[in-house]
Amino acid sequence: MSDQPPQLRTVLARGFRRKCPRCGEGDLFKRWITLHDRCPVCDLQYLQNQGDLWGYLLLIDRAVFIFPLIVVIYFRIYNPYSVWFYIFVAALIGGLLYSLPHRNGMSVGLEYYWRNRPPRT
Ligand SMILES: [Zn+2]
Repeated sequence: MSDQPPQLRTVLARGFRRKCPRCGEGDLFKRWITLHDRCPVCDLQYLQNQGDLWGYLLLIDRAVFIFPLIVVIYFRIYNPYSVWFYIFVAALIGGLLYSLPHRNGMSVGLEYYWRNRPPRT
């Protein structure tokens, strides 16, 4: 294992697969979204402070879900009685719940990447 931190893309992909951002082997979560303190494989401490995650989670959430939200609002205003509105909202909520561990994992990865980013020259 090298000392170089992995690429941002790698870290995000590992987070999406709910794996350790450093080694890509250890599981991030004990249960659905209960985070392990450390990687069972490489012993990386996932979060230095529990609160570290929320900023990144919010960032990812906004990036991923601002667009569907705009679509929902648009639907509601211009098509208030369409059944597609309810289908879309149900799909959106289902997608949000389903992808919660993936987004959490990506947030852990992003936090890890940011903490270990190469120093600027
Ligand atoms: Zn690991």
